[in-house]
Amino acid sequence: MTFDNSRAFAQQCDRDDPLRDWRRRFSHPRINGRDVLYFTGNSLGLMPEGVREALNVELDDWARLGVEGHFHGTHPWYSYHERLTPPSARLVGALESEVVCMNSLTTNLHLLFVSFYRPAGKRYKIISEAKMFPSDRYLLETQTRFHGYDPDDAIIEVGPREGSRIIEEADIVAAIREHADEVALVFFGGVQYFTGQFFDIATITQAAHDAGATVGVDLAHAVGNVPLSLHDWGVDFAAWCTYKYLNGSAGNVGGAFVHERHATADLPRFGGWWGHDKENRFLMEPGFTPIPGAEGWQLSNAPVMGMAVLHAALSMFDEVGLDALRKKSIALTGYLENILRDVIARQEHMTMRLITPTDPARRGCQLSVQLVGGDRGLFDALTAAGVICDFREPDVVRLAPAPFYNSFEDVWRFGGVLEQVLAEQAA
Ligand SMILES: *Cc1c(COP(=O)(O)O)cnc(C)c1O
Repeated sequence: MTFDNSRAFAQQCDRDDPLRDWRRRFSHPRINGRDVLYFTGNSLGLMPEGVREALNVELDDWARLGVEGHFHGTHPWYSYHERLTPPSARLVGALESEVVCMNSLTTNLHLLFVSFYRPAGKRYKIISEAKMFPSDRYLLETQTRFHGYDPDDAIIEVGPREGSRIIEEADIVAAIREHADEVALVFFGGVQYFTGQFFDIATITQAAHDAGATVGVDLAHAVGNVPLSLHDWGVDFAAWCTYKYLNGSAGNVGGAFVHERHATADLPRFGGWWGHDKENRFLMEPGFTPIPGAEGWQLSNAPVMGMAVLHAALSMFDEVGLDALRKKSIALTGYLENILRDVIARQEHMTMRLITPTDPARRGCQLSVQLVGGDRGLFDALTAAGVICDFREPDVVRLAPAPFYNSFEDVWRFGGVLEQVLAEQAA
C-alpha cells in the first residue's frame, strides 16, 4: 500500500475495507455534542450493539422466574459460564477444556499462582519483563513475599537494551538460561501494555520449559488484538480481562487458561463449590473433587448479568473472525504510523520516537509514541480537540486504533488534529 496523508486516500481505504460496516455496530461517545476520535480500545472497548438486549433476556428471566432461572431460564444460569467458553477458547487458541471465564484478571492470576508458582529449594525465582503493569508487579511482590522471599531477590526483571524500550526475546532467553537452576516461573505480558510489544510467547515458553520452569502469560493487551495459540505454544497458564479489546464492559468477568497437561494433575489450589465435580455439586458434601480442566479453578457461581454482556461482545468476534480483524489492524496501525511520521516531519516543535516495534509481527494495534519536547499540555490540547487517547508521564502518548470500530479516516483526522495542536503550541 502506498501511503498518502489525504482524506481522499483514507476514504478510499475505508471503501476498500471489508470490515467497514462494523463501525456502526458500536456506540461512539460524544463530547460537547460531537463524536470523539476514540483510540483507547486498549483501556476500555466501546459498547457493542446487542448488549442491552442480551442483558434484558436475563433480567426478564430473573423477573419472571426468580430462582428457577438457574435451571429453566432461556440460558440456564446454572451452566451460564459455559456459553463463554467456545468463543474465548477460539480467541486464545485453546481447547475448550482449557478455558474458563470467571472472577477478574488479577484475582485469576493470584489463584493460578497458587497452583503454578511453587517455589522449592533453590528454585524460587520469577523472571518477568521490566516495568510490568502495576497490578502484575504487585502480584509478583506479594506472591514472593507470601512464600517468604524478598521480592528484590526473587524477581528477576529483563529490561530493554540501552536506547530502546523493546525487550529482545534473545535477552529473555539468555536470562532464563543464566538462571536455569533457580527459576521457578517465567511470567510475561503477551503484549506489553506500555510499549505495545507483542512477545514471541512460543520462544519464551520453550526456553522456560527447557530450564524446568513453568510459564504464565497475562493476555490483557493481547486477547482480541493479536493471534494466540496457547495450546500449541505449550503455555502452562494464562489470564486476561475482557473490557479492553474484547469490548466486554468495564470491570467485567475475566478469562483463564490452564494447559491440558495440567487438567487432572494433583496441584495445590484454592477450591470453591463451582470448581467441584458437577455431578455431585448439589450433594453438598465435604471432599473437594475438582472438575478436570480450567473449570476446576472456579470458586463461585457465575455473575450472569456481566456474562450476558460479554457473550454478546464475544459473538461479534466469532462473526467476523480474528484473522480479518488482524489483517485490518495491521493496515490501520501502519497507516497511523505513517501519518505520525509525516506530521512530525513537517514541524520543528518536537521529535517523535516510536517506542513500539515497527515490525507489525511484533506489535498489536497500539502505538506508543514518545513526543520529545512535548508535555502534558499537548495531550490536554488533543483531548480538548476531541481525541480520546492516553498519556503517560512524562511524554508518551498511547494510541490504539481498534479494527472493529476505527476507520482510516479517524486516523487521518487524528493527524490533522495533531498538526493543528502542534502549530498552536509553536505559535
Ligand atoms: C488492564 C490490565 C490489568 C488490570 O487488572 P484487573 O484485575 O482487571 O483490574 C492487569 N494487568 C495488565 C497487564 C493489564 O493490562
